[in-house]
Amino acid sequence: MSLSDPKNQIQLLRFDDDFDGEVRLEEPMSRHTFYRIGGPAFAWIQCDSIASLSQVISICVKGNFPWCVVGMGANLLVSDDGFEGVVIHLGRDFKKWDFNQCTFQFYVGSSVAFTRIVQQAFHLGVSGFEFGTGTPGTMGGILTMNAGRPDDSIGSRVVSLRTYSASDGIKTYRGEDIDWEYRHTSIPSDEVVLDCILQARAGDKQEIQEKMDKILAHRKQVQPLSAHCCGSVFKNPEGHSAGKLIESCGLKGKRIGGAQISPKHANFIVNDANASAKDVCALIHLAQQKVHKRYNIELHPEVRFLGFHE
Ligand SMILES: Cc1cc2nc3c(=O)[nH]c(=O)nc-3n(C[C@H](O)[C@H](O)[C@H](O)COP(=O)(O)OP(=O)(O)OC[C@H]3O[C@@H](n4cnc5c(N)ncnc54)[C@H](O)[C@@H]3O)c2cc1C
Repeated sequence: MSLSDPKNQIQLLRFDDDFDGEVRLEEPMSRHTFYRIGGPAFAWIQCDSIASLSQVISICVKGNFPWCVVGMGANLLVSDDGFEGVVIHLGRDFKKWDFNQCTFQFYVGSSVAFTRIVQQAFHLGVSGFEFGTGTPGTMGGILTMNAGRPDDSIGSRVVSLRTYSASDGIKTYRGEDIDWEYRHTSIPSDEVVLDCILQARAGDKQEIQEKMDKILAHRKQVQPLSAHCCGSVFKNPEGHSAGKLIESCGLKGKRIGGAQISPKHANFIVNDANASAKDVCALIHLAQQKVHKRYNIELHPEVRFLGFHE
């Protein structure tokens, strides 16, 4: 067994009592995505501390072995063939959060569910996070995607955030130094988001509740919330609604294999009958082709892909 081979080093982590985390080999990614789709990752590794995160990334970078971070998998489509690399999930030390009553700021670890912060803000009677009602994801995923609604997103609440990379170690960014674009940020793709400070503001509990109720009621009305899906599949092209474009091409309810363009919202592709990633991709391509042919508009995916070869 060659110890210079990153695969062997990763396998050996399973027997290392000092390794602060958990290693699973050939872990089906269908267990880690909202879609319930995805073949096995070479390894799925939960890192419970910065020490174990840095250990795993160092093995991968030095061995030129693919790796990525996955939060809740709420915006992820993984190939049926899986991912021949390491999927890193952030555990224990990244699940902490706190609220400072003096500054009205939340400290939030990357693995905290964002909806937890939305709920806590409501309980504390502080405003600024109602827009996240019903948006699934870890804080790391929410920041990386600059998740939000058409009129608001997480970027404008970020005071600062910390990342880790093999080349620079821990880095701190001020929120204003990051470009917060539509479902995209300027955070380099080789940096793992560790935690952040978010700014809240004084609010009225009843008003906060009313806003949250309104958002949730709207979601329930127009989105297939209980389905296995990734939320919006496509970004809205400037001045257009991706859902309306797809619907006007007659694709609402269109099915390929176990996947369907939701009859409720045409920008949602759902897995309602043991769909494969191939089924979902076929619907993605079909929607892109039809919309392009009819309107000469490109639909760009919002969903992130893992394990697909160009
Ligand atoms: C029913 C439903 C409704 C949704 N509604 C909305 C909505 O209203 N608005 C919206 O914006 N989105 C929405 N989404 C999409 C999803 O909620 C967001 O994209 C969310 O940010 C995904 O977070 P996650 O932890 O699941 O990230 P994942 O899906 O696990 O990963 C998404 C991306 O983030 C990267 N990433 C994750 N964690 C880290 C980290 N710590 N460091 C670096 N990179 C990281 C991953 O590598 C990947 O590229 C919805 C999804 C569903 C299923």
